[in-house]
Amino acid sequence: MANDRHAVADGMVVGFDYTLRLEDGEVIDSSEEVEPLVYLHGQGDIIPGLERALYGMRAGEERNVVLEPADAYGEFDPEAVEFIPYDALPEDLEMELGMELELHDEDTEEVYTAYVTEIRPDGVMIDMNHPLAGETLYFQVKIAEVRLATPEELEHGHVHDSDHEH
Ligand code: ZN
Repeated sequence: MANDRHAVADGMVVGFDYTLRLEDGEVIDSSEEVEPLVYLHGQGDIIPGLERALYGMRAGEERNVVLEPADAYGEFDPEAVEFIPYDALPEDLEMELGMELELHDEDTEEVYTAYVTEIRPDGVMIDMNHPLAGETLYFQVKIAEVRLATPEELEHGHVHDSDHEH
């Protein structure tokens, strides 16, 4: 495979169209209205299970890929759902259901994204799980383009296209 310049492998730039459905058939994302998604293979730029599934595919090939939560956005973690009292939140912040919050952990300096899942009289319930945690993902993919990355792209670890500026 190392000399195959037409199949998806590490160090190849890959463009693909996709439709993402959940178990109930609901389409939650699609590249149809936009451009194919272009990424550099082998960098972990797309979800791990999908990157593995695209390996070896060629332009024009289509595939259905089913990803269990562990290969996608992880299992749902009940401990990542927490109550936050209003006095621990900025006063001027109007809480709304589904609202996205950025939480800053002072100890680890990590930033977490959380979603408000319930509004209570004394505070809110927040969920730090990824919105797709615990979901099995059903991808329909079609490879649009496979090409060798340039030495510069490999060095930078990302794709250079017409939109890319340094
Ligand atoms: Zn670059």
